[in-house]
Amino acid sequence: MSLRLDHLAWSVDGRVILDGVDCTPPRGALTGLLGPNGAGKSTLLRLVVGAQRPDQGHAVLDDVDLLGLPRRDRARRVALVEQEATTTSPLTVREAVLLGRTPHASRWGGFSARDLSVAATALAEAGIGHFAERRLSTLSGGERQRVHLARALAQEPDLLLLDEPTNHLDVHAQLDTLAVVGGLTARGVTVVAALHDLNLAAAACDHLVLLRAGRVVATGSVEEVLRPEVIEPVYGVRCLVLTHPETGRPVLTFTAR
Ligand code: ADP
Ligand code: MG
Repeated sequence: MSLRLDHLAWSVDGRVILDGVDCTPPRGALTGLLGPNGAGKSTLLRLVVGAQRPDQGHAVLDDVDLLGLPRRDRARRVALVEQEATTTSPLTVREAVLLGRTPHASRWGGFSARDLSVAATALAEAGIGHFAERRLSTLSGGERQRVHLARALAQEPDLLLLDEPTNHLDVHAQLDTLAVVGGLTARGVTVVAALHDLNLAAAACDHLVLLRAGRVVATGSVEEVLRPEVIEPVYGVRCLVLTHPETGRPVLTFTAR
């Protein structure tokens, strides 16, 4: 079963931000959510995780309407890693990751041995075990981004939403993040990631959804969506699509129109 977004709509101050978004990111796959700045990617992810209420529509995962669930139940199924924000939090990395267990922890007994062990595994998977005792406020942007990913892993969601997860990362760290995502999708987790870098999307995604001004303008495989006739009008650039000699995947180059 897959995730089904069913006519999700949201307006603010009389401005339509999401105009009835329909799409079906497949289960156990990485879906790239693409679109220019302001297309509505972050808003869509916030609606699906329940951080913002849609005016209309549903987000259905395994036949369950996520938006109808109590918050704690929803948080056991869906996690969102938001775009990087600076923090003044006094927490250590380990404490921040353990917070991912909150929706699973007993309401009265606090964190169990299993909660601690899941958090430790998440720290290791995200490659941040070596600075688990550092304070969040002392980390670089890229390091903090990994902490947020680890917290989402600790949450053990069926659906993981990532908002530009590779933004502050060097190429090696980008590939590390994609490898973590690959491990999750192999275990059946459905992942939707808002991505800016179309070449990263071309290399890593199983499925794509392209947004423009709050509407889905294309959806399908990497080869179906990353074509000049689809990309050029949406981004307002000239685009050439080559084929990677080793992977056979598209490689895009851009020039001003
Ligand atoms: P993206 O992530 O694709 O860059 P966003 O979802 O962040 O786009 O934003 C889409 C549009 O909605 C932008 O024009 C943004 O300014 C607007 N927007 C988002 N949230 C709000 C809000 N709370 N109030 C007013 N405008 C908003
Ligand atoms: Mg955004």
